[in-house]
Amino acid sequence: MNPLKIDHIGIAVNSIEESLKFYEALGLKCEGIEEVAEQKVKVAFLPCGDSELELLESTDPEGPVAKFIEKKGTGIQHIAIRVSNIEEAIAEMKEKGFQMIDEKPRYGAGGASIAFVHPKSSGGVLLELSQRD
Ligand code: ZN
Repeated sequence: MNPLKIDHIGIAVNSIEESLKFYEALGLKCEGIEEVAEQKVKVAFLPCGDSELELLESTDPEGPVAKFIEKKGTGIQHIAIRVSNIEEAIAEMKEKGFQMIDEKPRYGAGGASIAFVHPKSSGGVLLELSQRD
């Protein structure tokens, strides 16, 4: 595997609009909001240097982000590492005996190909592998 950088940090929020007041006060700018229907989530992108913050607002009480907030409250939900080849990264993690949530790459916000590693395999961190071309 070839980990390139922290691609983004995903932060679960109740309201993107409300949260932007804080993040914009830090000088960050929202460069777009995308709804990812499959994940029942709205994502706001806030670039910060070479990486970015993603604010995640659930669009459905049954969605993964709503469930996360219900269990743990708002806050950091996942960390994404950019890899050069997502298919290879998944195969390598499985080969090394780690459990993947996604055994095949799927669509991620911003047009990335992503796959989540199971928190059981990572000591409780929801880790996303992400490839952008
Ligand atoms: Zn993400």
